[in-house]
Amino acid sequence: MHSFEQYMPTKIVFGKEAELKAGTLAKEWQAKKVLLVYGGGSVVRSGLLGRVEAVLKAEGIEVEELGGVKPNPRMSLAKEGVKKAINSGADLVMAVGGGSCIDTAKAIAIAAAKPGTDLEEFWSGKVPIEKALPVGVVLTIAAAGSEMSDSAVLTNEETGKKAGAHSDLVRPKFAMMNPELMYTLPKYQLTCGIVDIMMHTMERYFTPVDGNELTDEIAEGVLRTVIRNGLKAYEDQQNYDALSEIMWCGSISHNNMTGLGRPKDFACHKLGHEIGGMFDEAHGATLSAVWGSWARYVYQIDIPRFAHFGRKVWGIEEVDDIKAALAAIEETEKFFERIEMPVCIGQMKTGVLEDDVLMQMADSATKGDTVELGSFKKLKKQDMYEIYKAANH
Ligand code: NAP
Ligand code: FE
Repeated sequence: MHSFEQYMPTKIVFGKEAELKAGTLAKEWQAKKVLLVYGGGSVVRSGLLGRVEAVLKAEGIEVEELGGVKPNPRMSLAKEGVKKAINSGADLVMAVGGGSCIDTAKAIAIAAAKPGTDLEEFWSGKVPIEKALPVGVVLTIAAAGSEMSDSAVLTNEETGKKAGAHSDLVRPKFAMMNPELMYTLPKYQLTCGIVDIMMHTMERYFTPVDGNELTDEIAEGVLRTVIRNGLKAYEDQQNYDALSEIMWCGSISHNNMTGLGRPKDFACHKLGHEIGGMFDEAHGATLSAVWGSWARYVYQIDIPRFAHFGRKVWGIEEVDDIKAALAAIEETEKFFERIEMPVCIGQMKTGVLEDDVLMQMADSATKGDTVELGSFKKLKKQDMYEIYKAANH
Protein backbone atom coordinates (compact mmCIF):
# COMPACT_ATOMS: atom_id res chain seq x y z
CA MET A 1 0.00 0.00 0.00
CA HIS A 2 1.33 3.43 -0.90
CA SER A 3 1.65 6.12 1.76
CA PHE A 4 -0.85 8.96 1.77
CA GLU A 5 -2.12 11.97 3.70
CA GLN A 6 -5.80 12.68 4.07
CA TYR A 7 -7.41 15.78 5.59
CA MET A 8 -11.20 16.03 5.79
CA PRO A 9 -12.10 18.90 8.12
CA THR A 10 -15.60 19.43 6.73
CA LYS A 11 -18.53 18.66 9.02
CA ILE A 12 -21.34 17.26 6.86
CA VAL A 13 -24.99 17.71 7.77
CA PHE A 14 -26.92 15.57 5.30
CA GLY A 15 -30.67 15.15 4.75
CA LYS A 16 -34.00 16.94 4.59
CA GLU A 17 -33.98 20.48 6.03
CA ALA A 18 -30.21 20.35 6.55
CA GLU A 19 -30.05 24.06 5.61
CA LEU A 20 -31.91 24.96 8.80
CA LYS A 21 -28.71 24.17 10.71
CA ALA A 22 -26.94 27.18 9.11
CA GLY A 23 -27.36 29.35 12.21
CA THR A 24 -26.10 26.85 14.77
CA LEU A 25 -23.20 25.76 12.57
CA ALA A 26 -22.09 29.37 11.97
CA LYS A 27 -22.33 29.95 15.69
CA GLU A 28 -20.01 27.01 16.35
CA TRP A 29 -17.44 29.07 14.41
CA GLN A 30 -18.19 32.15 16.55
CA ALA A 31 -19.55 33.98 13.51
CA LYS A 32 -21.01 37.44 14.13
CA LYS A 33 -21.42 38.51 10.52
CA VAL A 34 -21.85 36.13 7.61
CA LEU A 35 -21.38 37.04 3.96
CA LEU A 36 -23.86 34.92 1.97
CA VAL A 37 -22.71 34.21 -1.59
CA TYR A 38 -25.27 33.08 -4.15
CA GLY A 39 -25.79 32.84 -7.88
CA GLY A 40 -28.18 34.04 -10.53
CA GLY A 41 -31.34 33.77 -8.49
CA SER A 42 -32.43 30.12 -8.17
CA VAL A 43 -32.03 30.28 -4.38
CA VAL A 44 -34.04 33.49 -4.20
CA ARG A 45 -36.89 32.01 -6.25
CA SER A 46 -36.96 28.78 -4.24
CA GLY A 47 -37.02 30.64 -0.93
CA LEU A 48 -33.82 28.91 0.23
CA LEU A 49 -31.87 32.14 0.71
CA GLY A 50 -34.64 33.55 2.90
CA ARG A 51 -34.71 30.38 5.04
CA VAL A 52 -30.93 30.50 5.54
CA GLU A 53 -31.00 34.20 6.40
CA ALA A 54 -33.78 33.63 8.92
CA VAL A 55 -31.94 30.90 10.83
CA LEU A 56 -28.74 32.98 10.89
CA LYS A 57 -30.59 36.00 12.25
CA ALA A 58 -32.35 33.81 14.80
CA GLU A 59 -28.91 33.09 16.24
CA GLY A 60 -28.15 36.83 16.43
CA ILE A 61 -25.83 36.70 13.41
CA GLU A 62 -25.81 39.63 10.99
CA VAL A 63 -26.03 38.95 7.29
CA GLU A 64 -24.45 40.58 4.25
CA GLU A 65 -25.12 39.36 0.69
CA LEU A 66 -23.29 38.94 -2.57
CA GLY A 67 -25.49 37.65 -5.40
CA GLY A 68 -24.92 37.27 -9.12
CA VAL A 69 -22.28 34.54 -9.22
CA LYS A 70 -22.31 33.02 -12.72
CA PRO A 71 -21.35 29.50 -13.77
CA ASN A 72 -17.62 29.67 -14.61
CA PRO A 73 -17.40 32.24 -11.79
CA ARG A 74 -15.67 35.49 -12.56
CA MET A 75 -12.64 36.91 -10.79
CA SER A 76 -14.17 40.42 -10.92
CA LEU A 77 -17.25 39.46 -8.89
CA ALA A 78 -15.07 37.66 -6.36
CA LYS A 79 -13.05 40.88 -6.00
CA GLU A 80 -16.28 42.78 -5.32
CA GLY A 81 -17.04 40.19 -2.67
CA VAL A 82 -13.63 40.69 -1.06
CA LYS A 83 -14.37 44.43 -0.68
CA LYS A 84 -17.79 43.66 0.72
CA ALA A 85 -16.39 41.17 3.23
CA ILE A 86 -13.69 43.56 4.41
CA ASN A 87 -15.95 46.64 4.59
CA SER A 88 -18.70 44.81 6.42
CA GLY A 89 -16.35 42.99 8.79
CA ALA A 90 -17.68 39.56 7.78
CA ASP A 91 -16.04 36.77 9.76
CA LEU A 92 -17.47 33.77 7.86
CA VAL A 93 -18.33 33.33 4.18
CA MET A 94 -21.25 31.04 3.36
CA ALA A 95 -22.01 29.84 -0.15
CA VAL A 96 -25.64 29.02 -0.97
CA GLY A 97 -25.40 27.26 -4.30
CA GLY A 98 -23.09 25.07 -6.34
CA GLY A 99 -19.42 24.94 -7.20
CA SER A 100 -19.42 28.41 -8.69
CA CYS A 101 -20.74 30.02 -5.49
CA ILE A 102 -18.52 27.88 -3.27
CA ASP A 103 -15.40 28.75 -5.27
CA THR A 104 -16.29 32.44 -5.17
CA ALA A 105 -16.81 32.17 -1.40
CA LYS A 106 -13.42 30.45 -1.04
CA ALA A 107 -11.69 33.19 -3.07
CA ILE A 108 -13.32 35.87 -0.92
CA ALA A 109 -12.27 33.98 2.23
CA ILE A 110 -8.65 33.98 1.06
CA ALA A 111 -8.30 37.63 0.04
CA ALA A 112 -10.47 39.08 2.82
CA ALA A 113 -8.11 37.47 5.34
CA LYS A 114 -5.25 39.53 3.90
CA PRO A 115 -6.56 43.03 3.12
CA GLY A 116 -4.42 44.97 0.65
CA THR A 117 -3.48 41.96 -1.49
CA ASP A 118 -5.07 41.64 -4.91
CA LEU A 119 -6.97 38.37 -5.32
CA GLU A 120 -5.12 37.68 -8.58
CA GLU A 121 -1.82 37.49 -6.72
CA PHE A 122 -3.00 34.39 -4.89
CA TRP A 123 -4.09 32.88 -8.21
CA SER A 124 -0.78 33.60 -9.93
CA GLY A 125 1.04 32.07 -6.99
CA LYS A 126 2.88 35.32 -6.24
CA VAL A 127 1.38 35.47 -2.75
CA PRO A 128 1.00 32.22 -0.78
CA ILE A 129 -2.33 31.40 0.85
CA GLU A 130 -1.52 31.52 4.56
CA LYS A 131 -4.91 32.17 6.10
CA ALA A 132 -8.55 32.32 5.17
CA LEU A 133 -11.88 33.13 6.76
CA PRO A 134 -13.94 30.03 7.54
CA VAL A 135 -16.20 28.92 4.68
CA GLY A 136 -19.59 27.23 5.11
CA VAL A 137 -21.81 25.75 2.39
CA VAL A 138 -25.47 25.13 1.67
CA LEU A 139 -25.17 22.87 -1.36
CA THR A 140 -27.83 23.03 -4.08
CA ILE A 141 -26.26 20.82 -6.76
CA ALA A 142 -24.17 17.66 -6.73
CA ALA A 143 -21.30 18.19 -9.11
CA ALA A 144 -18.09 20.01 -8.29
CA GLY A 145 -17.42 18.46 -4.88
CA SER A 146 -16.10 21.86 -3.82
CA GLU A 147 -18.00 21.43 -0.53
CA MET A 148 -15.13 19.25 0.72
CA SER A 149 -12.30 20.08 -1.68
CA ASP A 150 -9.23 22.27 -1.27
CA SER A 151 -9.64 24.12 -4.55
CA ALA A 152 -11.36 27.12 -6.04
CA VAL A 153 -11.62 27.73 -9.78
CA LEU A 154 -12.17 31.22 -11.19
CA THR A 155 -12.30 32.62 -14.71
CA ASN A 156 -10.45 35.83 -15.43
CA GLU A 157 -12.80 37.40 -17.95
CA GLU A 158 -10.11 39.76 -19.26
CA THR A 159 -7.87 36.91 -20.38
CA GLY A 160 -10.48 34.14 -20.79
CA LYS A 161 -8.28 31.99 -18.58
CA LYS A 162 -9.90 29.61 -16.11
CA ALA A 163 -7.62 28.46 -13.31
CA GLY A 164 -7.66 27.13 -9.79
CA ALA A 165 -5.96 27.87 -6.47
CA HIS A 166 -5.44 25.17 -3.85
CA SER A 167 -5.14 25.21 -0.09
CA ASP A 168 -6.34 23.06 2.78
CA LEU A 169 -7.31 26.35 4.42
CA VAL A 170 -10.28 26.75 2.08
CA ARG A 171 -11.77 23.33 2.66
CA PRO A 172 -15.23 24.27 3.97
CA LYS A 173 -15.64 23.96 7.73
CA PHE A 174 -19.17 22.66 7.29
CA ALA A 175 -21.54 21.74 4.48
CA MET A 176 -25.31 21.31 4.64
CA MET A 177 -26.55 18.87 2.01
CA ASN A 178 -30.28 18.50 1.46
CA PRO A 179 -30.96 16.42 -1.69
CA GLU A 180 -34.48 17.91 -1.94
CA LEU A 181 -32.89 21.19 -2.99
CA MET A 182 -31.93 19.48 -6.26
CA TYR A 183 -35.58 18.99 -7.30
CA THR A 184 -35.49 22.40 -9.03
CA LEU A 185 -32.27 21.77 -10.98
CA PRO A 186 -32.46 22.11 -14.75
CA LYS A 187 -31.91 18.59 -16.15
CA TYR A 188 -28.84 19.77 -18.04
CA GLN A 189 -27.21 20.88 -14.77
CA LEU A 190 -28.09 17.56 -13.12
CA THR A 191 -26.38 15.62 -15.90
CA CYS A 192 -23.39 17.97 -16.09
CA GLY A 193 -22.97 17.28 -12.39
CA ILE A 194 -23.10 13.51 -12.88
CA VAL A 195 -20.30 13.78 -15.46
CA ASP A 196 -18.19 15.96 -13.16
CA ILE A 197 -18.54 13.46 -10.31
CA MET A 198 -17.47 10.62 -12.60
CA MET A 199 -14.54 12.64 -13.89
CA HIS A 200 -13.28 13.57 -10.41
CA THR A 201 -13.17 9.85 -9.75
CA MET A 202 -11.67 8.78 -13.08
CA GLU A 203 -9.00 11.50 -13.03
CA ARG A 204 -7.71 9.76 -9.90
CA TYR A 205 -8.31 6.21 -11.16
CA PHE A 206 -6.33 6.38 -14.38
CA THR A 207 -2.89 7.11 -12.98
CA PRO A 208 0.49 5.40 -13.34
CA VAL A 209 0.43 3.99 -9.80
CA ASP A 210 -1.31 0.76 -8.92
CA GLY A 211 -2.06 -0.54 -5.43
CA ASN A 212 -4.23 0.68 -2.55
CA GLU A 213 -7.02 -1.80 -3.11
CA LEU A 214 -9.57 -0.01 -0.99
CA THR A 215 -8.99 3.21 -2.94
CA ASP A 216 -9.86 1.34 -6.13
CA GLU A 217 -12.93 -0.28 -4.58
CA ILE A 218 -14.18 3.10 -3.35
CA ALA A 219 -13.62 4.67 -6.78
CA GLU A 220 -15.38 1.81 -8.58
CA GLY A 221 -18.22 1.92 -6.04
CA VAL A 222 -18.66 5.67 -6.50
CA LEU A 223 -18.75 5.21 -10.27
CA ARG A 224 -21.28 2.37 -10.20
CA THR A 225 -23.46 4.25 -7.71
CA VAL A 226 -23.46 7.55 -9.57
CA ILE A 227 -24.14 5.81 -12.90
CA ARG A 228 -27.03 3.70 -11.53
CA ASN A 229 -28.62 6.56 -9.64
CA GLY A 230 -27.80 9.05 -12.38
CA LEU A 231 -30.08 7.11 -14.72
CA LYS A 232 -32.83 7.00 -12.07
CA ALA A 233 -32.62 10.74 -11.40
CA TYR A 234 -32.47 11.47 -15.12
CA GLU A 235 -35.83 9.67 -15.48
CA ASP A 236 -37.37 11.10 -12.30
CA GLN A 237 -35.87 14.23 -10.83
CA GLN A 238 -37.94 13.98 -7.65
CA ASN A 239 -36.33 10.65 -6.73
CA TYR A 240 -35.00 11.60 -3.29
CA ASP A 241 -32.96 8.44 -2.76
CA ALA A 242 -31.28 8.64 -6.16
CA LEU A 243 -30.44 12.32 -5.64
CA SER A 244 -29.10 11.51 -2.16
CA GLU A 245 -26.71 8.90 -3.53
CA ILE A 246 -25.55 11.26 -6.28
CA MET A 247 -25.03 14.09 -3.81
CA TRP A 248 -22.88 12.02 -1.48
CA CYS A 249 -20.94 10.57 -4.43
CA GLY A 250 -20.16 14.17 -5.41
CA SER A 251 -18.43 14.85 -2.11
CA ILE A 252 -16.60 11.53 -1.92
CA SER A 253 -15.42 11.81 -5.52
CA HIS A 254 -13.51 15.00 -4.80
CA ASN A 255 -12.42 14.83 -1.14
CA ASN A 256 -9.66 12.48 -2.32
CA MET A 257 -11.14 9.26 -0.94
CA THR A 258 -11.13 7.98 -4.52
CA GLY A 259 -7.43 8.69 -4.96
CA LEU A 260 -5.57 7.90 -1.72
CA GLY A 261 -2.03 6.74 -2.38
CA ARG A 262 -2.11 7.71 -6.06
CA PRO A 263 -1.05 10.74 -8.05
CA LYS A 264 -3.83 12.65 -9.80
CA ASP A 265 -4.17 13.03 -13.55
CA PHE A 266 -6.66 15.83 -14.23
CA ALA A 267 -5.57 16.33 -17.86
CA CYS A 268 -9.23 16.20 -18.96
CA HIS A 269 -10.05 18.99 -16.50
CA LYS A 270 -7.27 21.06 -18.09
CA LEU A 271 -8.63 20.29 -21.57
CA GLY A 272 -12.12 21.22 -20.36
CA HIS A 273 -11.10 24.41 -18.54
CA GLU A 274 -9.71 25.87 -21.75
CA ILE A 275 -13.06 25.35 -23.48
CA GLY A 276 -14.99 26.58 -20.42
CA GLY A 277 -12.84 29.70 -20.03
CA MET A 278 -12.97 30.60 -23.72
CA PHE A 279 -16.55 29.69 -24.61
CA ASP A 280 -18.37 29.74 -21.26
CA GLU A 281 -19.57 26.13 -21.63
CA ALA A 282 -20.85 24.20 -18.59
CA HIS A 283 -17.98 22.43 -16.84
CA GLY A 284 -19.42 18.89 -17.02
CA ALA A 285 -20.15 19.21 -20.74
CA THR A 286 -16.57 20.25 -21.50
CA LEU A 287 -15.37 17.07 -19.75
CA SER A 288 -17.64 14.52 -21.46
CA ALA A 289 -16.84 16.19 -24.81
CA VAL A 290 -13.13 15.38 -24.52
CA TRP A 291 -12.97 12.26 -22.31
CA GLY A 292 -13.41 9.62 -25.05
CA SER A 293 -10.74 11.27 -27.22
CA TRP A 294 -8.40 11.47 -24.25
CA ALA A 295 -9.06 7.81 -23.35
CA ARG A 296 -8.40 6.51 -26.88
CA TYR A 297 -5.22 8.60 -27.02
CA VAL A 298 -3.79 7.24 -23.76
CA TYR A 299 -5.29 3.78 -23.07
CA GLN A 300 -2.37 1.83 -24.51
CA ILE A 301 -0.19 3.07 -21.65
CA ASP A 302 -2.06 0.64 -19.38
CA ILE A 303 -4.56 -1.54 -21.23
CA PRO A 304 -5.22 -3.84 -18.22
CA ARG A 305 -6.26 -0.80 -16.18
CA PHE A 306 -8.90 0.22 -18.70
CA ALA A 307 -10.00 -3.42 -19.01
CA HIS A 308 -10.31 -3.70 -15.21
CA PHE A 309 -12.34 -0.47 -15.16
CA GLY A 310 -14.65 -1.96 -17.81
CA ARG A 311 -15.16 -5.17 -15.85
CA LYS A 312 -15.66 -3.56 -12.44
CA VAL A 313 -17.69 -0.52 -13.46
CA TRP A 314 -19.55 -1.60 -16.60
CA GLY A 315 -19.74 -5.36 -15.98
CA ILE A 316 -17.92 -6.16 -19.23
CA GLU A 317 -17.25 -9.91 -19.44
CA GLU A 318 -14.80 -9.86 -22.35
CA VAL A 319 -11.58 -11.73 -21.39
CA ASP A 320 -9.33 -10.10 -23.98
CA ASP A 321 -7.87 -6.99 -22.35
CA ILE A 322 -7.67 -4.86 -25.48
CA LYS A 323 -11.27 -5.58 -26.43
CA ALA A 324 -12.43 -5.00 -22.84
CA ALA A 325 -10.53 -1.69 -22.64
CA LEU A 326 -12.07 -0.39 -25.87
CA ALA A 327 -15.52 -1.60 -24.84
CA ALA A 328 -15.12 0.26 -21.53
CA ILE A 329 -14.44 3.53 -23.36
CA GLU A 330 -17.45 2.92 -25.59
CA GLU A 331 -19.75 2.12 -22.64
CA THR A 332 -18.68 5.30 -20.87
CA GLU A 333 -19.48 7.38 -23.95
CA LYS A 334 -22.80 5.57 -24.43
CA PHE A 335 -23.73 6.50 -20.87
CA PHE A 336 -22.84 10.16 -21.47
CA GLU A 337 -25.03 10.15 -24.57
CA ARG A 338 -27.86 8.44 -22.72
CA ILE A 339 -27.98 11.36 -20.26
CA GLU A 340 -27.68 13.83 -23.16
CA MET A 341 -24.12 14.90 -22.50
CA PRO A 342 -21.85 15.73 -25.46
CA VAL A 343 -19.16 13.24 -26.47
CA CYS A 344 -17.45 15.59 -28.91
CA ILE A 345 -16.91 19.33 -29.26
CA GLY A 346 -19.44 19.59 -32.10
CA GLN A 347 -22.22 18.47 -29.74
CA MET A 348 -21.63 21.43 -27.39
CA LYS A 349 -23.32 24.78 -28.02
CA THR A 350 -19.88 26.10 -29.09
CA GLY A 351 -19.88 23.74 -32.09
CA VAL A 352 -16.90 22.51 -34.10
CA LEU A 353 -13.90 24.83 -33.64
CA GLU A 354 -11.33 26.25 -36.04
CA ASP A 355 -8.01 24.43 -36.03
CA ASP A 356 -6.04 27.45 -34.81
CA VAL A 357 -8.36 27.70 -31.78
CA LEU A 358 -7.50 24.11 -30.85
CA MET A 359 -3.80 24.95 -31.01
CA GLN A 360 -4.37 28.12 -28.99
CA MET A 361 -6.10 26.10 -26.27
CA ALA A 362 -3.36 23.45 -26.28
CA ASP A 363 -0.79 26.22 -25.99
CA SER A 364 -2.62 27.92 -23.13
CA ALA A 365 -3.16 24.63 -21.24
CA THR A 366 0.55 23.77 -21.40
CA LYS A 367 1.65 27.38 -20.81
CA GLY A 368 3.38 27.59 -24.19
CA ASP A 369 4.55 23.96 -24.04
CA THR A 370 6.49 24.57 -20.83
CA VAL A 371 4.43 22.23 -18.63
CA GLU A 372 3.33 18.64 -19.09
CA LEU A 373 -0.20 17.75 -18.05
CA GLY A 374 -1.62 14.61 -16.51
CA SER A 375 0.18 11.67 -15.00
CA PHE A 376 -1.26 8.51 -16.66
CA LYS A 377 0.42 9.76 -19.83
CA LYS A 378 2.25 13.04 -19.57
CA LEU A 379 0.83 15.32 -22.24
CA LYS A 380 2.61 18.10 -24.06
CA LYS A 381 1.15 20.78 -26.26
CA GLN A 382 1.07 18.58 -29.37
CA ASP A 383 -0.65 15.79 -27.42
CA MET A 384 -3.30 18.20 -26.14
CA TYR A 385 -3.82 19.46 -29.68
CA GLU A 386 -4.22 15.89 -31.00
CA ILE A 387 -6.84 15.14 -28.35
CA TYR A 388 -8.78 18.33 -29.14
CA LYS A 389 -8.54 17.45 -32.82
CA ALA A 390 -9.91 13.95 -32.26
CA ALA A 391 -12.82 15.46 -30.28
CA ASN A 392 -13.48 18.23 -32.81
CA HIS A 393 -16.36 16.83 -34.84
P1 NAP B 1 -22.75 25.95 -10.73
O1 NAP B 1 -21.95 26.59 -11.79
O2 NAP B 1 -22.54 26.36 -9.34
O3 NAP B 1 -24.30 26.13 -11.07
C1 NAP B 1 -24.77 25.83 -12.35
C2 NAP B 1 -26.17 26.32 -12.59
O4 NAP B 1 -27.08 25.53 -11.84
C3 NAP B 1 -26.42 27.76 -12.21
O5 NAP B 1 -27.04 28.37 -13.31
C4 NAP B 1 -27.34 27.70 -11.02
O6 NAP B 1 -28.32 28.72 -11.00
C5 NAP B 1 -28.04 26.38 -11.24
N1 NAP B 1 -28.45 25.75 -10.00
C6 NAP B 1 -27.67 25.28 -8.99
N2 NAP B 1 -28.41 24.69 -8.05
C7 NAP B 1 -29.71 24.82 -8.44
C8 NAP B 1 -30.94 24.38 -7.91
N3 NAP B 1 -30.99 23.66 -6.78
N4 NAP B 1 -32.06 24.68 -8.58
C9 NAP B 1 -32.04 25.37 -9.76
N5 NAP B 1 -30.90 25.78 -10.33
C10 NAP B 1 -29.75 25.51 -9.68
O7 NAP B 1 -22.60 24.37 -10.88
P2 NAP B 1 -21.46 23.38 -10.41
O8 NAP B 1 -21.38 22.36 -11.47
O9 NAP B 1 -21.67 22.97 -9.00
O10 NAP B 1 -20.12 24.23 -10.43
C11 NAP B 1 -19.36 24.37 -11.59
C12 NAP B 1 -18.11 25.16 -11.29
O11 NAP B 1 -17.34 24.50 -10.28
C13 NAP B 1 -17.22 25.26 -12.51
O12 NAP B 1 -16.66 26.56 -12.60
C14 NAP B 1 -16.15 24.24 -12.24
O13 NAP B 1 -14.93 24.52 -12.89
C15 NAP B 1 -16.02 24.34 -10.75
N6 NAP B 1 -15.41 23.17 -10.10
C16 NAP B 1 -14.82 23.37 -8.91
C17 NAP B 1 -14.23 22.33 -8.22
C18 NAP B 1 -13.59 22.58 -6.88
O14 NAP B 1 -13.19 21.65 -6.20
N7 NAP B 1 -13.48 23.80 -6.45
C19 NAP B 1 -14.24 21.04 -8.76
C20 NAP B 1 -14.86 20.86 -9.98
C21 NAP B 1 -15.47 21.92 -10.64
P3 NAP B 1 -28.21 30.02 -10.03
O15 NAP B 1 -26.95 30.68 -10.36
O16 NAP B 1 -29.42 30.79 -10.38
O17 NAP B 1 -28.25 29.51 -8.61
FE1 FE C 1 -14.68 19.20 -12.04
